[in-house]
Amino acid sequence: MLLLLVAYGWLFVYFERLNNPNELVRVYAARSLAEHGSWLIGRRELRGGRFVDEGPIDSEWGYVNDKALTCDDPRARPPACAGRLFAAKAPAASLLGAPVLAVLRLFGPVQKTAAVLVLRWVLVILPSVAFWILLRRWMIDHFIVEGFRFDQLMTDDEALEAFIRKAGIGVWHATCTCRMGADDDPMAVTDNQGRVRGVSGLRVVDASLFPCVPCANTNFPTLMTAEKISDMMLAQ
Ligand SMILES: Cc1cc2nc3c(=O)[nH]c(=O)nc-3n(C[C@H](O)[C@H](O)[C@H](O)COP(=O)(O)OP(=O)(O)OC[C@H]3O[C@@H](n4cnc5c(N)ncnc54)[C@H](O)[C@@H]3O)c2cc1C
Repeated sequence: MLLLLVAYGWLFVYFERLNNPNELVRVYAARSLAEHGSWLIGRRELRGGRFVDEGPIDSEWGYVNDKALTCDDPRARPPACAGRLFAAKAPAASLLGAPVLAVLRLFGPVQKTAAVLVLRWVLVILPSVAFWILLRRWMIDHFIVEGFRFDQLMTDDEALEAFIRKAGIGVWHATCTCRMGADDDPMAVTDNQGRVRGVSGLRVVDASLFPCVPCANTNFPTLMTAEKISDMMLAQ
């Protein structure tokens, strides 16, 4: 955890190429809000036959990706048009970041690295730490373990069982409770044709038969299992 904190909260900030455009374009928008009170972070212009992104932030901080372009000419289609550039992101993080950068400006021109570093700490790391220390346990006790205490569930088996009986619910993709498997598999209930071991004339053919949970939704695999086993039965 400490390593992650040092890497994300300090070291990586100094390696430009590691900066995620997703985050960076929000920082650009926050700076634009702090300095110009505008969401506009630059313009795309035609220069020497090619389109170039420009503006005060671009010229100081360099190119950033993940922008949205609105063409000046309503008949033109982005990205090949001159027009206004915005962050193609939900605005809340930039809105929250703007007052932070406004304060940072009091100490001089805002550098890109400093802006990323400060916003990471103020908007991501410190709130996460506060949540972890102050709110996490309280939320677990009040909204998840309901009527028990988290410590109690970790130390008292009876309380844990009572909690599981009270709070356990079905899931959408329940599978594998009656699974097929090889002859030497002690956990396999059926053979590879769905025949229940030790009971003649009985097959299981549904999602419970899956040997493992598929990395997909389960409806089609259930139908495919049924098709496959009915083919086997008809062939016999
Ligand atoms: C809310 C929800 C949403 C889902 N959404 C998706 C989805 O979007 N895509 C997807 O791929 N999968 C989805 N699934 C999963 C998918 O529906 C199941 O994996 C699939 O239906 C399992 O098929 P099954 O034949 O094993 O069981 P079921 O479809 O549950 O069939 C069991 C049948 O047995 C009957 N039955 C039970 N007991 C008895 C009894 N004693 N006597 C006679 N009949 C009995 C039941 O009435 C039922 O008709 C969803 C599941 C849920 C619960």
